[in-house]
Amino acid sequence: MKRNLLGRTGIEVSELCFGTLPFGPLQKNLPVEEAAALLQAAFARGINFVDTAQTYKTYEPIRLALRGAKERPVIATKSPAKTYEAMQKAVDEALAALELDYIDIFYLHAARAGVEVFTEREPALRCLLDNKKAGKIKAVGISTHSVKVTAAAAGRDEIDVVFPIINIDGMGILEGTKEEMEAAIAGCEKQGKGVVLMKVLAGGTAADRYAEAVNYARALKGYHSIAIGMISLDELVYNVDFFTGKAVRDLPVITGKKFAVFGYLCKGCFTCINACPNHAIARQGEVAVIDEKACLTCGYCVGACPQFAIRMI
Ligand code: SF4
Ligand code: SF4
Repeated sequence: MKRNLLGRTGIEVSELCFGTLPFGPLQKNLPVEEAAALLQAAFARGINFVDTAQTYKTYEPIRLALRGAKERPVIATKSPAKTYEAMQKAVDEALAALELDYIDIFYLHAARAGVEVFTEREPALRCLLDNKKAGKIKAVGISTHSVKVTAAAAGRDEIDVVFPIINIDGMGILEGTKEEMEAAIAGCEKQGKGVVLMKVLAGGTAADRYAEAVNYARALKGYHSIAIGMISLDELVYNVDFFTGKAVRDLPVITGKKFAVFGYLCKGCFTCINACPNHAIARQGEVAVIDEKACLTCGYCVGACPQFAIRMI
């Protein structure tokens, strides 16, 4: 597995980063030991980069996997905290739950925020910088779906790593086009930022065009790693084979698509109802629900949801 230096951080990461959201309780909810074993299998195959978040609730399988790791992997986490105190709590929680002395990369978890995030969440960002000074964090970053935030991050000295959304369909990109995001990503790299790409499979909707979607991302200028969520050994092997240039099977094993609304993310705007070509989405109280029997698994609703609340499971 190819490794790249993450901008000017001095941190070396595998080109494929293991995204832990899908195996955690918010999505597939694998048993903790099974998730930990999957991570260890990833380490054994050359992946040294793990992405998590305060909200993903996957610290425990990572902690277990770290126990058996021959080499300490690079751990990136993030928090949506707004205040200094809440962010300090998030940092302390991550260090304790993962049993680590330091976190390699700590992002402001700012998926849907606009460029005002740098002023509105200045106390939380300052907290991360203080922890960096204290040696508890090696690099400070921001995760974002916004072109404007990505472009602004390039010019901000305090940001070491940028974690933007990008995919072949331009799905989920805010405040700009796919082409503008491509340019913003290249600009970040030019300014020495580490760049990790997220959602290159467009929330799972491009999984049936895996090679095309991943090759699109790998052809972009200025990225150092690509985070992909994995929930099984088959998926892991498939991804590793692809990234290491081995012959891959014709069809990805990432099949059996099913879509669901994650109620904790749904804001009840019901935009998705009109986006569904098969009337498979309905209101249930204040949230939307998908009728599995009527769902065509087309994924149109995924891109229509401003909250990214509809995911393939
Ligand atoms: S579009 Fe998203 S946030 Fe709006 S109702 Fe549908 S699932 Fe909920
Ligand atoms: S995946 Fe397609 S058919 Fe299924 S709920 Fe979403 S828009 Fe409707």
